[in-house]
Amino acid sequence: MNIDGKKIAQEILDNLKKEIAKYKMKPGLAVLLVGENEASKIYIKMKEKACLHVGIHSIVKRLNEKTTEAELFEEIEKLNFDENIDGILVQQPLPPQIDAYKTTLAISPNKDVDGFHPLNLGKMMLGQKDGFLPCTPKGIVTLLEKSNIDPAGKHVVIVGRSNIVGKPLAVMLMQKEKMANATVTVAHSGTQNLKEITKSADILVAAIGQAKYITEDMLKPGVVVIDVGISREDKKVVGDVDFENVSPIARAITPVPGGVGPMTIAALIENTFQSFKMRKH
Ligand code: NDP
Repeated sequence: MNIDGKKIAQEILDNLKKEIAKYKMKPGLAVLLVGENEASKIYIKMKEKACLHVGIHSIVKRLNEKTTEAELFEEIEKLNFDENIDGILVQQPLPPQIDAYKTTLAISPNKDVDGFHPLNLGKMMLGQKDGFLPCTPKGIVTLLEKSNIDPAGKHVVIVGRSNIVGKPLAVMLMQKEKMANATVTVAHSGTQNLKEITKSADILVAAIGQAKYITEDMLKPGVVVIDVGISREDKKVVGDVDFENVSPIARAITPVPGGVGPMTIAALIENTFQSFKMRKH
């Protein structure tokens, strides 16, 4: 079975549109882009499109490549105090003179709809529900839920330990709660015998960034495969999983594009609406 992330994300956005229409005011999302990264521009366009669809007022602040940390933080501070803005995100990657961690700290945790601020990550770790969850892991859990795939009691192997995907997803799936309670293994570039570990996965999440790295011989039949990776191969967008060969042995699998990507955006929109409700209503 193909897990249609695009369709599921669209349903989420359509529902949010109805919810948002019930309010007089519109939620506001501010995106800051520093420099000219082409992939960032594409992601921002997708986010703007989703905002427009659901009725969120979005602004994109474009700053030049030479922007200093102080200049960026000044812009963030203005947005922190802007009553019309519920969510702030700074598109990564950032130019070398700007520290990503310090940038995360500059954003008010109450408007950190990316869920990267240490306060929100701490709340997630503690299983508290009053913070923002990072968008990609949140989108993955929703994707599993909507596909009736319960991770409880399952062995979930996550390949990749980044702060935005692998690590927070592991924390979320190991919580003792609904749509979690899994036994989680996190693999990375220092992992020995990766194949042995991936072979024992009931649910495999690939968040590596290497095209078609996960092949069918690394998996057991009936596995659920969630492919987070986005790479370019011969002008085509491909994931971390060799979809063509893995698909026949998988019980369910997400395609790239059209799997996790749209869910990440849906989660961002959900977080922005959550912030709006928490702050104003
Ligand atoms: P990072 O580069 O930050 O992390 C990659 C992780 O994969 C690291 O933990 C790294 O290990 C591990 N890794 C790399 N090579 C191997 C290997 N051969 N074997 C085992 N582990 C390996 O990437 P991100 O988490 O930011 O992103 C991963 C991919 O997902 C990218 O393609 C990115 O574009 C995509 N992405 C997609 C999103 C979406 O919405 N669909 C959202 C975010 C990312 P180590 O820690 O040891 O270096």
